[in-house]
Amino acid sequence: MSDGRIYNFSAGPSMMPLPVLEKAAAQMLNYEGSGMSVMEMSHRSKYYDDIINGAQDVLRRVLNIPDNYKILFMQGGATMQFSAIPLNLMVTGKADYAITGNFARNAAKEARKFGTVQIAATSEADNFTWIPTQDQLNLDPTADYFYFCANNTIFGTEWHYDPETGNVPLVADMSSNILSKPVDVSKYGLIYAGAQKNMGPAGMAVVIIREDLMGHYRENMPVLLDFALTADKNSMYNTPPTYTIYMMKLVAEWVEQMGGVEAMAKLADKRSSMLYEFLDSSELFKGAAQKASRSRMNVTFRTGDDELDKKFIKESIEAGMTNLKGHRLVGGMRASIYNAMPVEGVEYLIDFMQKFEKNNK
Ligand SMILES: *Cc1c(COP(=O)(O)O)cnc(C)c1O
Repeated sequence: MSDGRIYNFSAGPSMMPLPVLEKAAAQMLNYEGSGMSVMEMSHRSKYYDDIINGAQDVLRRVLNIPDNYKILFMQGGATMQFSAIPLNLMVTGKADYAITGNFARNAAKEARKFGTVQIAATSEADNFTWIPTQDQLNLDPTADYFYFCANNTIFGTEWHYDPETGNVPLVADMSSNILSKPVDVSKYGLIYAGAQKNMGPAGMAVVIIREDLMGHYRENMPVLLDFALTADKNSMYNTPPTYTIYMMKLVAEWVEQMGGVEAMAKLADKRSSMLYEFLDSSELFKGAAQKASRSRMNVTFRTGDDELDKKFIKESIEAGMTNLKGHRLVGGMRASIYNAMPVEGVEYLIDFMQKFEKNNK
């Protein structure tokens, strides 16, 4: 890699595409002749209007978002949506949740403050190593929505199908796999994602919502959590995270130039299958997630020996890689390989793992 940059396997905030960083650097002091940085700009200026509207346009193209869906930019990260979703979508007061990881569990915990949460499925007893199949979902046809986390960043599992829920709106947390594959948005009521995994720097969530799901009146609705008001104000009721939105626009433009989400999916398949093939052939390393549920974005693995895991992480840093330590809820290692991770980064990691295995037989 250039300029002393290293392979960063962080789960988030994570690696950004190099051309995006370069473009942002080139535009840092004087954005398109405005005489100022995007950071210094009024969000009510013509320049900024073009940025925020352009960010929506490029996302709409890249994710093929139908016209009857709004794109909202909201602060508070993905976690704020744990509250915003029940506040806006629990119309009769009950929703189904699939608990496949820590973030889904926290979302359900928050939703319980506002209504009844029904557990449609849970893999908690197996430390979240698997994703339920359609048959394993216990669905209430009268629920206000069905909630799931499309990619479990901590545990390294991913849903490889869109759940069928009939008329019940499908709500998905795609924080760690958005922009990594084509999605049929029309099957969903709401998709949201925190920006800092696969879309840009931290500071906001993107919410893609079918228009008819907005506008549910609730007394004492916090003004900044109201989807209808946010849509009405074009995500600028107050000052939005202006620089994060600008960076996300650059990332989405980069995805488009690279060949769109189809190209991102091919690369994600390539990176993850290389790594899983190696894990399956290794006598030292073992994948943590069940095979059918493996994530293309976050690969969790371990040696089975805590001391050896520690040694691995220490030596990986010396070898020029970073953030391979697993989340404390899983232990071991985790390689987060989002869109911005070059294939060479994964090749470099596998090469290192092979050598480590040889030296620690
Ligand atoms: C990181 C993450 C979150 C939490 O994101 P914040 O922006 O820190 O609130 C929620 N869901 C998933 C799937 C994540 O990966």
